[in-house]
Amino acid sequence: MARTSYAIAIGSNRRGRHGSPAREVAAAIDALGGVTAVSPILHTPPLGPSKRRFANAVALIESDEPPPALLRRLKALERGFGRRRGRNWGARVIDLDIILWSGGSWGEPALTVPHRLFRGREFVLAPLARVAADWRDPVTGLSVRQLAARLRRKR
Ligand code: ADP
Ligand code: MG
Repeated sequence: MARTSYAIAIGSNRRGRHGSPAREVAAAIDALGGVTAVSPILHTPPLGPSKRRFANAVALIESDEPPPALLRRLKALERGFGRRRGRNWGARVIDLDIILWSGGSWGEPALTVPHRLFRGREFVLAPLARVAADWRDPVTGLSVRQLAARLRRKR
């Protein structure tokens, strides 16, 4: 398959073997491979009942993997990060989501690209806009910059 690019959202809200959530995010970015751009790591207050603050970032990567193969690799990375000494396969330290793909859309129940919730998530759009403001969402036709502005207006 031809070389394509992906925008990957990385989030963490608990410490792991690398340290704080921000360190976990940085380590996950190092492990991704093919990285061409990285946003700053932003901190987001917890949503819902959780008390833990999130660290979030977006990385652009180049990969010739089709979306399902990339998702399998991301899930394996998540499992590797979720392991903690003294606990077996505890809660995940790292969440890795495929947000956008230069190949366009992918539609399966188990894997939807663009990510089905990213247009409403400030913690994805804010870092995404730092590395890919002009990337156009194939579903709405809006750029990331426009999606971010639209979300800010709604709030
Ligand atoms: P969340 O990311 O919403 O916190 P999970 O990481 O547990 O929750 O994701 C649940 C499932 O969503 C994954 O197992 C995966 O199969 C599916 N999924 C669908 N689309 C995507 C996508 N674009 N990126 C990552 N996972 C996705
Ligand atoms: Mg996920």
